[in-house]
Amino acid sequence: MKRTEFTPPPNFIRNIIEEDLKTNKYGGRVHTRFPPEPNGYLHIGHAKSICLNFGLAAEYGGVCNLRFDDTNPTKEEEEYVASIKEDVRWLGFDWEDREYYASDYFDQLYEYAVQLIKAGKAYVDSLSAEEIREFRGTLTEPGRESPYRNRSVEENLDLFERMRAGEFEDGACVLRAKIDMTSPNLNMRDPVMYRVLHASHHRTGDKWCIYPMYDFAHGQSDSIEGITHSICTLEFEDHRPLYDWFIEQLNIHHPQQIEFARLNLTYTVMSKRKLMRLVEEGHVEGWDDPRMPTISGLRRRGYTPDSIRNFCERIGVAKKESMVDIALLEHCVREDLNKRAPRVMGVLRPLRVVIDNYPEDRVEELEAINNPEDAGMGTRNLPFSKVLYIERDDFMEDPPKKFFRLSPGREVRLRYAYFVRCVDVVKDGKTGEVTELRCTYDPSTRGGDAPDGRKVKATLHWVSAAHAIRAEVRLYDRLFIKPNPEEDKGDTDFIDYLNPKSLEILASCFLEPSLKGAGPGSRYQFERLGYFCVDSKHSTANRLVFNRTVTLRDQWARIQKTVKKKGV
Ligand code: ATP
Ligand code: MG
Repeated sequence: MKRTEFTPPPNFIRNIIEEDLKTNKYGGRVHTRFPPEPNGYLHIGHAKSICLNFGLAAEYGGVCNLRFDDTNPTKEEEEYVASIKEDVRWLGFDWEDREYYASDYFDQLYEYAVQLIKAGKAYVDSLSAEEIREFRGTLTEPGRESPYRNRSVEENLDLFERMRAGEFEDGACVLRAKIDMTSPNLNMRDPVMYRVLHASHHRTGDKWCIYPMYDFAHGQSDSIEGITHSICTLEFEDHRPLYDWFIEQLNIHHPQQIEFARLNLTYTVMSKRKLMRLVEEGHVEGWDDPRMPTISGLRRRGYTPDSIRNFCERIGVAKKESMVDIALLEHCVREDLNKRAPRVMGVLRPLRVVIDNYPEDRVEELEAINNPEDAGMGTRNLPFSKVLYIERDDFMEDPPKKFFRLSPGREVRLRYAYFVRCVDVVKDGKTGEVTELRCTYDPSTRGGDAPDGRKVKATLHWVSAAHAIRAEVRLYDRLFIKPNPEEDKGDTDFIDYLNPKSLEILASCFLEPSLKGAGPGSRYQFERLGYFCVDSKHSTANRLVFNRTVTLRDQWARIQKTVKKKGV
């Protein structure tokens, strides 16, 4: 895969891998995996993990598996599997033929469990879930041993076999590891390995009515796949001793687990459970709503895979939780689109302009540059005629001092066209609303400056009314009004901080005719307005719908400038 021009800094994960390569710990191999649970759509936090796992493998000549951690039959669905594959592929990563499922290992995991029972390291417990919780103790109190803890190996083998055969109701018993009920690490207090669950699984159907717990499945799945570096988020640090214990008892291949801090973004919630609530309660249109931090939402919004990968590299990895400013993500997409998106003109809130001294039937083709950043993108012709639309915001009848755009008597430039001067304002007789501007143009200013050297202070975008195509444009703002909507404040809920103005639909916008037939997903810069992308869900052959990806105002660049100035 092509690396971005940004050079990745050394980080503690690279250091560990390089040390392992030096000592030949895994025979010089680097084999990672991305292990999503198919219980929701991937989000930008997952992208960090994907970039890390696939990126490190590529960097060290290794490979990365895609493994679905599908141990929970009640929450997992085929739809999620398909979306996850689409998203990883779209981000630019390839797992080739290495698509695995924890459920493929159910037989092997069962054998491992039997092996532990035979070694006297696991037992069937008949306490209820509540009793097990009670017996577990707390951080300050040791746990108590279950009265079933010392069942004989034979009895345990028999009971476990009968669990599998379906003789027990859900919750009647569990298989637990026999470790240490007094361990200061709660994960080591005889954790549950298997539970009875009479539920169909999306892949194994009704073959099983007992399912391994995530903690019993995850480490062994890594081991089975020969993973060398098992990279996961910080909350699994306390689980590592347990994973190590299982692997040592079973005497199987031992991957190195490495934990890093998960990505948190301002103005964003980032857990599938919370994103699921937004979807199920109808606060958004779906998992791929362009306001969602999901990969599919960002894709619909107009983000490029490059910009997301670049973002993930820039934020780096750390051992400490922190919050990344969403302005950095927006900066990354601007930086990328600035180079690749053709510039066009579109008017979102149209105001009609009639050029009084322009001939009625004349249409001129004016040359416009497609991207000043990239001459190779060429030019196109824009039709200019007597009746135009400009942005309603670009006119003020009674302008304040700092408003340099159009107002009565004032002259401005129309981009790639002429200087025009406002000579009259037409209003609705009843409402007083401005409905049309009458202007004159100076034919000597075509595509450039005035020969007499007179200056104008503003350049406006415009479209020719007769040639423009109509489109719907959706403007987005942050989904939440608080930088940290997840911050717990007693009886408030992140839903309370939803931004009621996160979506504004402009039904009647006018765009230059070159946009006719723009395909779903194609991205443009609308001059002066931001970057926009043809919506892949709502656009049809007869109806163009655009999503605004970002505005042109780069808050991140501004923050960086002040930081530099202040010398902090
Ligand atoms: P969520 O909390 O959003 O439900 P999860 O951890 O339950 O996420 P998984 O499907 O288990 O979701 O995650 C797959 C991989 O992605 C895991 O290795 C996990 O550590 C990683 N991951 C999940 N969220 C983040 C995040 N915010 N930042 C970095 N990595 C993440
Ligand atoms: Mg998880």
